[in-house]
Amino acid sequence: MIESVHEFSIAEALAVQVQSHAPAKGRIKLVEILVGALRGLEPESLTMCWQAVTIDTPLEGSSLQVELLPWSLECGNCGRKWTSPVPFVACACGNDSPVPTAGDELDLIAITVDEEEEPEP
Ligand SMILES: [Zn+2]
Repeated sequence: MIESVHEFSIAEALAVQVQSHAPAKGRIKLVEILVGALRGLEPESLTMCWQAVTIDTPLEGSSLQVELLPWSLECGNCGRKWTSPVPFVACACGNDSPVPTAGDELDLIAITVDEEEEPEP
């Protein structure tokens, strides 16, 4: 299975970010991120890419947990705002092309560290 370059480059950038936040002591077990729907990322694919990019780094063996945010939509007709798990839904007023107003989030929300274990040199 070939992973998309998109997910791979995001996993790489994320690994750099996590390592810059990593404490001096302990081993990182779990990394949690929040991803907006507009990013179009496949959580499973991102998780696999994470395992690939963290091999031979202090992050090897850590898990990546991806939480997808719903779409934030706004109706250009009546001004209604709401969130939806799918982007292509009609507004209650009949407008079938609401505009996504957010969704490009890519936030590192938590890093879980096992302080019992020393990172490998
Ligand atoms: Zn509307």
